[in-house]
Amino acid sequence: MNIQQNLQQVQQQIQQACQQANRTISDVSLLAVSKTKPVEAILQAYQAGQRQFGENYVQEGVEKIEYFERHNVDLEWHFIGPLQSNKSRLVAEHFDWMQTLDRAKIADRLNDQRPHYKKPLNVLIQINISDESSKSGIQPVEMLDLAKHIKNLPHLCLRGLMAIPAPTDDIHQQKHAFMQMQQLFQQLQCSLPECQIDTLSMGMSDDLTAAIECGSTMVRIGTAIFGARDYSK
Ligand SMILES: *Cc1c(COP(=O)(O)O)cnc(C)c1O
Repeated sequence: MNIQQNLQQVQQQIQQACQQANRTISDVSLLAVSKTKPVEAILQAYQAGQRQFGENYVQEGVEKIEYFERHNVDLEWHFIGPLQSNKSRLVAEHFDWMQTLDRAKIADRLNDQRPHYKKPLNVLIQINISDESSKSGIQPVEMLDLAKHIKNLPHLCLRGLMAIPAPTDDIHQQKHAFMQMQQLFQQLQCSLPECQIDTLSMGMSDDLTAAIECGSTMVRIGTAIFGARDYSK
């Protein structure tokens, strides 16, 4: 497992996808998803130039954030897992971004709990774009109401949308979900021109090319950088 080489390969894939889609490479950022991986793996990615990392589990994420703070390594941390309201304080106090916001109540808690000496917490609204049985994310029709609610919270900064489409091998189905997200994203930008809506977080190791073709500005890549995850421990 060579994390540096893997990162280079992913960067090349992103570059190719951007070329194919006639997009500028600097418009697509790479979030390295480090859940279940040790700090040594994150350090290797850091040494290869990676700065943005995503974590799914609050406690695990906070331990890593504190480790790198103690070592004066400046990273940007994104929370990308489901959040129970009793854990919101840890996210508000430690993370830079929260990508899975799907309830006004959690937004209020994060806003109240964000330390005032920190910059506002960047947030993305999670849209339940294809998997109606999943509990994560809101339905597209609910997007604008939640966005307007977040807009009025001074310690949150609404930056855009995030989605985890249902996994599928069917490229058309994949693109269909991504295109719907692109339309919602444009709708959000037009509806709230006073907000800095610049982030559409979609695309993982298996579908980043299609996501970039459909306007993704942030791909979230775990396996292709760090290898398969071991959940047995
Ligand atoms: C785990 C995870 C990823 C990364 O998935 P890979 O297939 O390993 O690239 C991306 N986004 C979210 C929300 C995840 O939970």
